[in-house]
Amino acid sequence: MIKFENVTKSYDHGVIALSDVNIDINNGEFIFFIGPSGSGKSTLLKLLLKEEVPSEGKIIVDGRDLATIREKDIPYLRRKMGCVFQDFRLLYDRTVYENIVFALRVIEASDREIKSQVAHVLELVGLTGQENKYPNQLSGGEQQRVGLARALVTRPPIVIADEPTGNLDSETADEIMRILYEVNTRGTTVLMVTHSKEIVEKSHKRVITLSKGKIVSDTKGGVTYGN
Ligand code: ADP
Repeated sequence: MIKFENVTKSYDHGVIALSDVNIDINNGEFIFFIGPSGSGKSTLLKLLLKEEVPSEGKIIVDGRDLATIREKDIPYLRRKMGCVFQDFRLLYDRTVYENIVFALRVIEASDREIKSQVAHVLELVGLTGQENKYPNQLSGGEQQRVGLARALVTRPPIVIADEPTGNLDSETADEIMRILYEVNTRGTTVLMVTHSKEIVEKSHKRVITLSKGKIVSDTKGGVTYGN
């Protein structure tokens, strides 16, 4: 479903952020991306969202080479991917409901669809009844659940989570992980960057480790994926 083929990304001034990266991701996988700061994790996610373009190599999503996707089709690509961020990125002058519904309005969902989808995601993230609150009336963990609800409300086949638990204590982080595992169980592909060894170690999921722009290991339960 997602393929990185010999992908290299260099930025201006000769910084090589990714170097000859190959990854094959199947539908429904859960993958952690780990590695020190500056190892290329964010660049990898940005390439997938077409916020950056590779200097060399190819990225294929659902059989389409991202290089051939036209400017006007980029929103369509991004709708396949719900994003969750470390710093939540909510609209603080809007209610929980408005934060979540925004993404549905963009895709011109019907009123009926909006109502049922919002109710569904609120239940999924455990925020039913909180929809009229503003984000700063919520705890950090609850704010991230709003972030998750917003990412999930359009039912994207892929969720990209960039250190979603980075600002949360470990108990709250576990709650967020539980929701991500749940949507993964229902078939959503989840790609998550994290610095948390604890989360990775207890998950038994596929782990791709980057160092200086290269994949240094790609394993699941002790089995190494071929490169
Ligand atoms: P990580 O997410 O693992 O911290 P990044 O992908 O952000 O790593 O960065 C990889 C390398 O690319 C680093 O050396 C970083 O300084 C560099 N880099 C990232 N973004 C840019 C940019 N927009 N311009 C120049 N260099 C960048």
